Amino acid sequence: MVLKRIELNGFKSFADKTEILLSPGLTVVVGPNGSGKSNVADAIRWVLGEQSPRSLRGSKMEDVIFAGSDRRKPVGMAEVSLTLDNEKGMLPVDFREVTVTRRVFRSGDSDYLLNRSPCRLRDLQDLFSDTGLGREGISIIGQGRVDEVLSSRPEDRRALIEEAAGIVRYRNRKREAVKK
Ligand code: ATP
Ligand code: MG
Repeated sequence: MVLKRIELNGFKSFADKTEILLSPGLTVVVGPNGSGKSNVADAIRWVLGEQSPRSLRGSKMEDVIFAGSDRRKPVGMAEVSLTLDNEKGMLPVDFREVTVTRRVFRSGDSDYLLNRSPCRLRDLQDLFSDTGLGREGISIIGQGRVDEVLSSRPEDRRALIEEAAGIVRYRNRKREAVKK
């Protein structure tokens, strides 16, 4: 599965609509300290469902919205879209290209969209489970995460292995079924 495009609008330091196009192969983001490299990684984790403001280096979810600068007023909404190539059908939907979008307003309202149509967070979580892309996925390895893998409790390590093995979806469904 290939990440083809990242669109940011009002997310952290990206006050203006910004489009990052990724070509196949390795992409490296370089830039001075504070120029927004980690904000791009935060944006990817956010749109994939990250719910913890702290792990996005803020204290509340509103902190992901551009807060203004010397020359610019704050904005009222942050939006991030990721476009993934689904030619190989790794995501269980009938689209060859999948765009997921997350939006949050200062009021606290938020939206999730799948190919520009509203959906629930739950739908995106289902879509990404077992692909390594989910919130606890293994496709983004942050600083410190490597240590976590090595030293974590056996249950945490097992969760990583289950995600990689592709059985999380079934485990979640079983849990839901048992609950009902
Ligand atoms: P380093 O090389 O030090 O890791 P970096 O390129 O990863 O730097 P980031 O951490 O991505 O930099 O960006 C930090 C910048 O983003 C800071 O200047 C900070 O003020 C800005 N920033 C973060 N959140 C917001 C926000 N909500 N509104 C405006 N600017 C923000
Ligand atoms: Mg950084």
